Amino acid sequence: MVARVTTFAFEGIAANPVDVQVHMTSGKQPVFMIVGLPDKAVAESRERVRAAFSAMGLALPPKRITVNLAPADLPKEGSHYDLPIALGVMAVMGIVSPDALDGHAAIGEMSLDGQLGETIGVLPAAMQALDMGLRLICPEICGPEAAWAGDGNLAAPNLISLINHFTGRTPLSCPPPGELAARPDLLDLKDVKGQDGAKRVLEIAAAGGHNLLFCGPPGSGKSMLAKRLSGLLPELSAKELLQVSQIQSVAGLLERGQLSRARPFRAPHHSASMAALVGGGIRARPGETSLAHHGVLFLDELPEFSGQVLDSLRQPLEDGEVTISRANRHVKYPARFQLIAAMNPCRCGGGAGDGRCRKGPRCAEQYQARLSGPFIDRIDLFYDTPAVTAVDLTLPPPTEGSADVAARVAAARQRQTDRYVETASPTKRALNVDATGQDLEAHAVLDTAGQQLIADAAAKYRLSARAYHRVRKVARTIADLEASDAIHRVHVAEALSYRRRLPEEADTARSGALAQ
Ligand SMILES: [Zn+2]
Repeated sequence: MVARVTTFAFEGIAANPVDVQVHMTSGKQPVFMIVGLPDKAVAESRERVRAAFSAMGLALPPKRITVNLAPADLPKEGSHYDLPIALGVMAVMGIVSPDALDGHAAIGEMSLDGQLGETIGVLPAAMQALDMGLRLICPEICGPEAAWAGDGNLAAPNLISLINHFTGRTPLSCPPPGELAARPDLLDLKDVKGQDGAKRVLEIAAAGGHNLLFCGPPGSGKSMLAKRLSGLLPELSAKELLQVSQIQSVAGLLERGQLSRARPFRAPHHSASMAALVGGGIRARPGETSLAHHGVLFLDELPEFSGQVLDSLRQPLEDGEVTISRANRHVKYPARFQLIAAMNPCRCGGGAGDGRCRKGPRCAEQYQARLSGPFIDRIDLFYDTPAVTAVDLTLPPPTEGSADVAARVAAARQRQTDRYVETASPTKRALNVDATGQDLEAHAVLDTAGQQLIADAAAKYRLSARAYHRVRKVARTIADLEASDAIHRVHVAEALSYRRRLPEEADTARSGALAQ
């Protein structure tokens, strides 16, 4: 006879249905085998199932038991196949009725004594099960996570409790969803004295979702400022929350089904490998870019990251997703994040005070040349943070904190949502940063003086087409912060002041564009 149980194979955050078919016949030699492209962890399920059965006082019958995982061409990885295989074996042995398993899917890692433990990917599995009209059976500890997908799932502490459930002795109840994590104490802009210009550009970045690079000497507060971006962003919407949580689930980062509405903030070290950043490794786990989906990716000491690692960020910055190549297939993860980066002007830190180093401008040129043009092209806002002086530290604490700025950011974002509501998609946010050329034609019309200014700047600084669009997007955000439909000269002037300067231009710094 054949028993069937549905389970899932993960490809990125997609949970693909897998049919676990367990077949038992009499044969000369007792055999227990698993076929259908199992990896090592799946093949080891056999031993765990055998041990768990013997711990319950059940011996596997001396027959041929074949477990087939279909479709055969889909690779099966991980230890979550333990539970569906054990359930299938129980059905062919007649311990539970095969009919009782109808309408169920199962996922769960099992210990040698039949206890079900923490399993990754329960949330996407539960969502897929619900779509297929199935109830998901999962380990008790993952019940609160499964319940976020919907009602009717079953969470069991061990195999015995499932036998008792399916034989009608002690029915299991459905778990309630886990709690929403309390919003973490976010760092406040109130703690940063001075740096009004940097705070302004942070506000613009938050409002339009623009990528931002702070450049300045050590101690100028670059990372202090960058870490405060989260506090300016609105909470995740319900849809975003589920997407972000599915990635965290597959990465094994969802503890006890506790979801958080705070936008992710990921700050990988500059020694991070490409696999750590964009995903990969043995099971193609999500990388930092995907863990930062709908949130912020902060890269401190930007030029210290390897060139190859930075280049690997181009695809997610452009497409909002990453593709990890594996032997004969590709795994995709969403990776739509806001990049904020910080760097010293030159390798030796750019010295203190006047921002010069002893080696002269070539030092900065060489250091900044480590960032490739195509990568730099994905950054909308550049800001040189001046060194903090003793005078700054004697200033009274700022009266305005993150909550005030966040309110303006929320209002500016609402204007963008209303504007792009029809063209937004999973890979295109309703934010100015993702505005297309068509969007700009329709919604970022400059007044005459603004047009004149941008035309002059394009000629003077030889702005590329990309740079020109970037200035228009940023100007659109600056106007949105003022609730202005029209984009005026002053908005364009400010947007131009945040364009990238070459090291030799840095001396004449920001006064240039603003004074025009
Ligand atoms: Zn230097």
